[in-house]
Amino acid sequence: MPELPEVETIKNELLPHIAGRRVDGVTLFWEGIVRQPSVEEFYSRLIGQRLSGLARRGKYLIFSLSGGEVLIIHLRMTGSLLVGQDSAEPPKYTRAIIHLDKDTNIFFRDPRKFGVMRLVGDADSVVGKLGPEPLEAGFTAQVLAKRLRQRTAPVKALLCDQAFIAGVGNMYADEALFAAGIHPLRLGGSLSPIEVEHLHRAIQQKLWSAISNKGASVDTYFRPDGTLGTAHFQFQVAHRLGGELCPVCGTPIERITVRNRGSYFCPRCQPEKA
Ligand SMILES: [Zn+2]
Repeated sequence: MPELPEVETIKNELLPHIAGRRVDGVTLFWEGIVRQPSVEEFYSRLIGQRLSGLARRGKYLIFSLSGGEVLIIHLRMTGSLLVGQDSAEPPKYTRAIIHLDKDTNIFFRDPRKFGVMRLVGDADSVVGKLGPEPLEAGFTAQVLAKRLRQRTAPVKALLCDQAFIAGVGNMYADEALFAAGIHPLRLGGSLSPIEVEHLHRAIQQKLWSAISNKGASVDTYFRPDGTLGTAHFQFQVAHRLGGELCPVCGTPIERITVRNRGSYFCPRCQPEKA
């Protein structure tokens, strides 16, 4: 599933292709991809608008429209946005095409059809309840400490909770916990101040590193030009299937399920008791 670094990469690489372009048409091969408003309204309110900007909040892409509304896309499990010309054959599993002027198309490819588009007047109606952005200056170790205080959920579950912190998902939660030496089942409120500091630094380092490597293509993630990211080559525990060894101490990496999510960790570098 695309997480913050993947969505940030898509935003950065899509923007030069779409900034100022006019929406000339929309083709839906799967109408369920439009969550809000009705499909008819989606067509009539989107077509003719210019795309004036593109931002990311958590795992959401927010396209500003010249008329003042925003188009919000969430790629969910398997979505990607690819740029191509009108003459190009739509990639396999394309569910929607946004046709722009100057022969530019955005292909919304989504094998499992979980991705959604929303056209709304106010972005906050969709993204207003998200937690803090982990790469913004306001997200300090003190902020993280305050949010963890007295929480009785496993820290892995908290990191994946979009209302707790925006944009982090399974992969980068596992990577950050490994780098910080914290077991995924440790309760949020049980972390010491120094552990919180390590975790804060690890979250930011792992996300920045993955952005500089253009995201992780472990499953169906593509960059807008159709190429793959390379961030997964830096992974130390995430997606390491059975039997692989910890790159630090050589202990076999283990996989447990935390709130329905497969979680990879090193039992020696991340002891269950602090
Ligand atoms: Zn280890």
